Amino acid sequence: MRIYWADLHIHTCLSPCAELDMTPKGIIKRAAAKGLDMIAVTDHNSAGNLSAALGCAAGGTVAVIPGMEITSAEEVHILALFETIDAAAEMQRQLYDGGDFPPDAGHKAFGTEQVIVNVADEILGFEPRLLAGASSKGLEDIIGAVHALGGLAIASHSDRESFSVLSQLGFFPEDAMFDAIEVTGKKPDTLLPARFPRLHSSDAHSPDMIGRKKTGFMMEAPTFRELAMAIKGEGGRGIRG
Ligand SMILES: [Zn+2]
Ligand SMILES: [Zn+2]
Repeated sequence: MRIYWADLHIHTCLSPCAELDMTPKGIIKRAAAKGLDMIAVTDHNSAGNLSAALGCAAGGTVAVIPGMEITSAEEVHILALFETIDAAAEMQRQLYDGGDFPPDAGHKAFGTEQVIVNVADEILGFEPRLLAGASSKGLEDIIGAVHALGGLAIASHSDRESFSVLSQLGFFPEDAMFDAIEVTGKKPDTLLPARFPRLHSSDAHSPDMIGRKKTGFMMEAPTFRELAMAIKGEGGRGIRG
């Protein structure tokens, strides 16, 4: 076992607030240059660029975990990490089921184009759904759905002034079912329940942000299963920095 450095919160050009040069290929290249062993690609409410990201990473030194940053009805951001693209795609299907994130919702009024690309950085299309919107499903329902798909649910930037558990609920419920919480250091750690493992990630929206914050995991390999064991502190795995 050794320490693997991971940045588990990175947006591609599909996210409305991310820069257009955040292509999967560019992200992998930058992550490798920054010495990262593992990243998670976590676009807002979409799995659309995951297959390009995993394709770009194949055979390289940076492992990619398929993820998504889901916006709950309370406008809390939740990082959902999965073992497979299929699980992430099923999460997306459940998110859009029932009419949330409707196509042609005027996405261009917010941020930049939402670009879907292939492994070669060629544009495949533009996502018409308003990815900056919110689900009608509440926080606990979303965490339950992530867990039902075998995924990990992490409270995004849990101590930030916007779109966080603290900002939206006013406090952090001790009994929330998160597997871990991402902290930014913006608020005293005492406001967050001690029982949750702390993670540091960049929430990168531009190439220069990738790897600016990272977490070290003691694991046997940079895989989803090892990551899940490290977050849960099982089998000698754990968070080491
Ligand atoms: Zn967020
Ligand atoms: Zn984010």
